Amino acid sequence: MMLVEEKDTLKLKLKEIFGYSQFRGNQETIIQNLLDGRNTFVIMPTGAGKSLCYQLPAMVHDGLAIVISPLIALMKNQVDQMNAYGVNARFLNSTLSKGEITRLKKDCMNGVVKLLYVAPESLNKEENIEFLQKVNVSFVAIDEAHCISEWGHDFRPEYRRIKTMIQQLGNLPVIALTATATPKVQIDIQRNLQMEEADVFVSSFNRKNLYYEVRPKKETKKQLIKFLKDNKGKSGVIYCLSRKKVEEIAQLLTVNGFKAAPYHAGLDPDVREKNQDGFLNEDIDIIVATIAFGMGIDKPDVRFVIHYDVPKSLEGYYQETGRSGRDGLEGHCLMFYSHNDLNKLEKFNKDKSVQERENARVLLQEMEFYAESPVCRRRQLLHYFGEEYKQDNCGMCDNCVHPRERFEGSEFVKIAIEAVKQTGERFGIQHLVNVIVGLEDDYVKSYGHFNLPIYGKGGDENTDFWKSIVRQALIYQYLEKDIDNIGVLKISERGEAFLKKPHNVELAKDHDFTTDIDEEEES
Ligand code: ADP
Ligand code: ZN
Repeated sequence: MMLVEEKDTLKLKLKEIFGYSQFRGNQETIIQNLLDGRNTFVIMPTGAGKSLCYQLPAMVHDGLAIVISPLIALMKNQVDQMNAYGVNARFLNSTLSKGEITRLKKDCMNGVVKLLYVAPESLNKEENIEFLQKVNVSFVAIDEAHCISEWGHDFRPEYRRIKTMIQQLGNLPVIALTATATPKVQIDIQRNLQMEEADVFVSSFNRKNLYYEVRPKKETKKQLIKFLKDNKGKSGVIYCLSRKKVEEIAQLLTVNGFKAAPYHAGLDPDVREKNQDGFLNEDIDIIVATIAFGMGIDKPDVRFVIHYDVPKSLEGYYQETGRSGRDGLEGHCLMFYSHNDLNKLEKFNKDKSVQERENARVLLQEMEFYAESPVCRRRQLLHYFGEEYKQDNCGMCDNCVHPRERFEGSEFVKIAIEAVKQTGERFGIQHLVNVIVGLEDDYVKSYGHFNLPIYGKGGDENTDFWKSIVRQALIYQYLEKDIDNIGVLKISERGEAFLKKPHNVELAKDHDFTTDIDEEEES
């Protein structure tokens, strides 16, 4: 039980330091949990207020809190922000000079510093560990904790050594935070940090004010100009895959009279900063960017985010689209999709290790399913992050506003579940579909699956049709993903119940993007 006075103290501190009068969502419970010395795992969408969950306890607690953060730019932003609040926050990374480091160490030993931001590479250094062992450390926060997992979209190998580093500092409470964690990534993080017993706080990922739309990538420039004319004067971001494309589109927009500017890592830092500031100050309406743009950018009134090219993962897509409508007002998320883009992305991975390539392929496949699926986009996105969206029609995505034709699909769902059952819950979608349509490939042969009663039961339809059925069975939770085996599908409780007592299921056909090749994009 939390004492009344303690609770008041947190509120007072919130007001005193940050000037806010209310905690948001479950911030207060999270902070109290950490202050109680418990390991804490926070999954909260971008912009919801994760940083406060370690910044405030750092101020309330004796000693120095260590914040592990992957990006020097992010660290600097946060340190500047905290300093502006009058908090003594500092960072320790490779940009500091010898003299600066000596001074920093002294201040930490003297107990002046409350928050120390470090990159995992710096924490890994013997000399830094030795020095931190002498400091009174209150707790460790791990920001962007999804970097620990190789199943996610942003894996950093050095993040996997964090636990070992922390252990050298003693038995400290840990708070891990991330804005993206599928159930699989979540478990991976907890196992790696040895905090399976941690209290997990998951906030809803539903962004009610965002409208999700996917369009075929056909006459894309024409569609883009039309969209921008209809939204003239509004603030927006257009993401492209390559720097070249960024330059090209930025120029196209400028020529057409829009206030647009490019942003990518290949630009001169001065130019990059100028364009970013221009966007923040509203001299520029539209930023055309690679994914280098956006981390740590907090512009509340971005009215649209356009993906000119298909992003590499749904995590990335969710993050990038999440930069629109932060003020709670409209945010239009438009993606131009073509199958060809997926092939291009796949080629980028050809030099990676087999495992990395496989992981990247699975992420891309999720992207493909999302784009081509007739199911509510919101429901799909939330399902991906392990959250069930129960409403039938969200009213805020293309699939809900312009629904595809529906059909009664209980027979199909039954076949999909049976296929999973008869193959022993050990296979992924491709194999299941091959069994259903009766396609005798090497796997089917070697497992003898042509002998199963379900083999060939769905031969009247093609594999694309069945993939869509299996996907819908998954999203409507008749099937579920096997947490330990990537790609493997199992039968859920709902699925078992369905086999015993089937009921009507409304399904729809996927969008057909196969014929949409954009001539102008082929150049
Ligand atoms: P995240 O790290 O989850 O993306 P931030 O920690 O950057 O989000 O917070 C997003 C914004 O919300 C920041 O401008 C922050 O100051 C603000 N914020 C956080 N908590 C509160 C609160 N309790 N009341 C008002 N604003 C808050
Ligand atoms: Zn919807």
